[in-house]
Amino acid sequence: MKQEIGFVQREVLKEKPDFSSLGFGKYFTDYMFVMDYQQEIGWFDPRITPYEPLTLEPSAMVFHYGQAIFEGMKAYKAADGTIQLFRPEKNMKRLNESCERLCIPQIDEDFLLEAIKQLILTEKDWVPDGEGTSLYIRPFIFSTEPYLGVRPAKQYKLLVILSPSGAYYGDQLSPVRIYVEEQYVRAVIGGVGHVKTAGNYAASLKAQEKADENGFAQILWLDAKENKYVEEVGSMNIFFKINGEVVTPRLNGSILPGVTRDSVIELLKYWNIPVREERISIEEVFAAHARGELEEVFGAGTAAVISPVGELTWNEHAIAINDYKIGELSQRIYDEMTGIQLGKKEDPFNWTV
Ligand code: PMP
Repeated sequence: MKQEIGFVQREVLKEKPDFSSLGFGKYFTDYMFVMDYQQEIGWFDPRITPYEPLTLEPSAMVFHYGQAIFEGMKAYKAADGTIQLFRPEKNMKRLNESCERLCIPQIDEDFLLEAIKQLILTEKDWVPDGEGTSLYIRPFIFSTEPYLGVRPAKQYKLLVILSPSGAYYGDQLSPVRIYVEEQYVRAVIGGVGHVKTAGNYAASLKAQEKADENGFAQILWLDAKENKYVEEVGSMNIFFKINGEVVTPRLNGSILPGVTRDSVIELLKYWNIPVREERISIEEVFAAHARGELEEVFGAGTAAVISPVGELTWNEHAIAINDYKIGELSQRIYDEMTGIQLGKKEDPFNWTV
């Protein structure tokens, strides 16, 4: 599949937004990467083209049966002006894992990463360099075949769009209130929770709406079978520091294997801080708090990197974590990871590209 990447020039470039108030996911750059798939040909016609609306058949299978997957990653303007990606090969691999689960044909990971690099270089003026800003990269694949029977499609489109994004937090991390959800579940074992398919996010909206109405930032998801074990927080993986030890739910088939999660575990091991991947019940978390041993709780994901949890509410029972203050370890991990991403700190793991 090593093919030449075509280029279609835009006539007029867009006016760039104010890079100091970008927010998230609101602005899109001048160009996107596109590639098509047909069963008889494979993936073909890779090209960088102007960002513009698509034309699809109303019968395109994605609208009916939801074969749609995506990835989320960021490019950072490093201290020396170069543009850095963070462990992008992990996102390429996860994209293919999502393809596999949704019966979408595999992509050539190296080729797609090269295409993404080429797209970013084309759009280098769109990479913001303010504190905490980045160029968000959204690769996605969906079925386009016009057909209404339920089966894997024979035609797909792969796109990569770019969106300059602002800092998730202002000057500093801010601990959030989290609601432990018992009515709705995010994912089931044997289902699709371990991959990034659009339906997972559609399924999460109702519970998030409920959390919003009650003044919570995000949901803590429990396992679907017993409503007992902690899975994830919002669209982040979750970590607990209990009596000096860090615990994160082990990957069980319904948890998304986050790139940030993996990086946090690696970092903790590197620092000789005990870390375990283990099933942990919400009851244990509250019991640890009652014993005075629940020291820190934080979410980990590409969007915020680290998101400290200040409060957990389960069945009307609210507990404050670390007195609503940012935990020392949460801050240390955040500083280290963002330092590596921005080329301000040494990268002993060779994570940046
Ligand atoms: N869980 C879910 C459900 C997510 O959508 C994400 C974001 N991709 C994560 C965890 C964190 O993954 P990552 O660290 O790769 O961004």
